[in-house]
Amino acid sequence: MASEQRPVLSVEEAQQHILSTVDVLEVETVPLLEGAGRVLAESVAADRDIPPVTNAAMDGFAVRGEDMVGDTVRLRVVGEVAAGHEADTPVGPGEAVRIMTGAPVPEGADTVVRFERTRLEGDLVVLLAPPGPGKNVRQSGEDVRRGQVVLEPGKVLRPQEVGMLAALGHLEVAVIRRPRVAILGTGDEVVPPSQVPGPSQIRDANSYTVAAQVQRYGGVPLLLGVVHDQEELVLRGIQQALERKADFIITSGGVSVGDFDLVKQVMNAEGEMHFWSLNMKPGRPMAFGDIDGTPLLGLPGNPVAAMISTRLYARPALLKMQGFRDWSEPVVRARLTEPIERKDGRRHYLRVCLDGTDEGCGAELMATLTGDQGSGILNSLVEADGLAVIPEQARHLPAGSEVEVVLLT
Ligand code: AMP
Ligand code: MG
Repeated sequence: MASEQRPVLSVEEAQQHILSTVDVLEVETVPLLEGAGRVLAESVAADRDIPPVTNAAMDGFAVRGEDMVGDTVRLRVVGEVAAGHEADTPVGPGEAVRIMTGAPVPEGADTVVRFERTRLEGDLVVLLAPPGPGKNVRQSGEDVRRGQVVLEPGKVLRPQEVGMLAALGHLEVAVIRRPRVAILGTGDEVVPPSQVPGPSQIRDANSYTVAAQVQRYGGVPLLLGVVHDQEELVLRGIQQALERKADFIITSGGVSVGDFDLVKQVMNAEGEMHFWSLNMKPGRPMAFGDIDGTPLLGLPGNPVAAMISTRLYARPALLKMQGFRDWSEPVVRARLTEPIERKDGRRHYLRVCLDGTDEGCGAELMATLTGDQGSGILNSLVEADGLAVIPEQARHLPAGSEVEVVLLT
């Protein structure tokens, strides 16, 4: 049997192998907002101080610190300055200028007294509880100094980094480009969702699940449709992927024992392909190799297996290609609501929904199986919040056992 010749790999061994075959992609310059969520590929220094001038942190009166002696201070109001305007009236001894938040502090003043702490008497302002000198003022450059390197290559651009780039006048940003991922479905029984399926046909779910995952992981999906189980058609699909300059190819179906020779011959004709038996469930059979140097991941056709394998094996590779350095899974810990028996020594990824307990203040998450764990049951994924990881060596986990759950957000 073909399956007996397949090397058995752990999840980590397969991940490591796949990761070792991909490199960080090239740099591209994109409009600032398109850089959000991506990895910065340049060093960014400030072109000016932020804030550019010393300014008010509150609405109030700009005053001289040395004037604030005694409990009640009376000063003459000599002018006003709003944000975005020049402070053209200096503050002399015994004087104050009305000032708005963000407005430059006038010459002579060093302190702002907020309106709530003042009272007007004609053209005098009475300071009711004068603050210490220097209060409520933001110094120029206190946020960022001109010339300071604010962002380094490798930084992931979250909303706050995007805002910083805008503050520094960057309308464009250099980031690592997104990988183009060609996605091909296989199977005589599989038709595109646009087509009316015959009685024994099914619509192609996998290509769309995988495409949405690729998008989620930062890649650009290229949907190549579905081909019948014929060597020349699979081959043509893969050639199309190369013509469209795919950086990574994902196929689904056609890697189980019955299909072994078909896929093997196609892949080996154009490149190198390894068939693995992974020590996990679902998703035991998988193919991985390269076609003309482009990595190809051959997923099993079962929709649950296809999605979990994309998560476990395509995700880290796509993140590495985009320059991310951390592809660890977001996991939470939860307690099983029912006992689990597994005797096959494989790692199981069980679809679970998560609920919080309200007992006491130490709230805990509880993980409940979303029904039938068959690898074709797509609805069990729709209902799932996560995948509970049952380790290889676990044989019997009683209800209440703590497990790691990979979140399916
Ligand atoms: P295979 O790996 O080709 O033997 O397929 C295993 C199972 O997954 C079969 O029941 C297929 O009908 C199903 N399957 C294969 N490809 C798809 C797909 N693109 N969408 C939904 N189900 C699929
Ligand atoms: Mg098939």
